[in-house]
Amino acid sequence: MPRPLPRRAFLTALAGLGAAALRAPAQPAPGRPVFFVPAADYHELPAGCYAENLIPPSELILHWDGNRHGRELWKVAVTYETLAYVQQSAHFAVDNQRVWQLLPMYQQRVQESYGAKGYNKIAVNIELAGRDFDLPDFAPGDNQVRLTLRLVSQLMDFYAIPFEKVVGHYERDDRGLKQDPGVQFLAAFREQLAADRAARTPLKQRFFAEP
Ligand SMILES: [Zn+2]
Repeated sequence: MPRPLPRRAFLTALAGLGAAALRAPAQPAPGRPVFFVPAADYHELPAGCYAENLIPPSELILHWDGNRHGRELWKVAVTYETLAYVQQSAHFAVDNQRVWQLLPMYQQRVQESYGAKGYNKIAVNIELAGRDFDLPDFAPGDNQVRLTLRLVSQLMDFYAIPFEKVVGHYERDDRGLKQDPGVQFLAAFREQLAADRAARTPLKQRFFAEP
């Protein structure tokens, strides 16, 4: 957890913020804050983990958090602590029991994360606790997949993000170093997502099916 600032430093920082706000160029209002989780599951990362900027989200990027300490530690709290330690960020963490929202989000825009180099200006990043999901021993639990599907679907609806823009980190890594969240995992996830959305929107399906 971040060390609290001494009172004088805090007041100085506060005064600085006020001055910055006065100088800041006019930006479109981000709308009201949005929470995609219950209040108890909102855990904002320390300020050093993300950019000050707000961005209009147009992609959802899925990750695994790379946890190598055993399945029993595939937990959102561990994802949080790891991100805080390495000063990186994602908007959400998902484990087999719950979803945590880790960054401020608004109706029109979201906090710019440090989650996928080169794509942070457009992406909402989602970390799944775990690693190497394509290996049989490391496949994520059914509930973790179900929670991720529900979250992704909610975000697609809320920010009008199309199916084609739900991607894996390995598809958004210009250096070709990333493998998360696994080619097979993502292919299966996409099938489930497509089926899920087709089932949930029968009116829309009928409309598009008509010539
Ligand atoms: Zn990643």
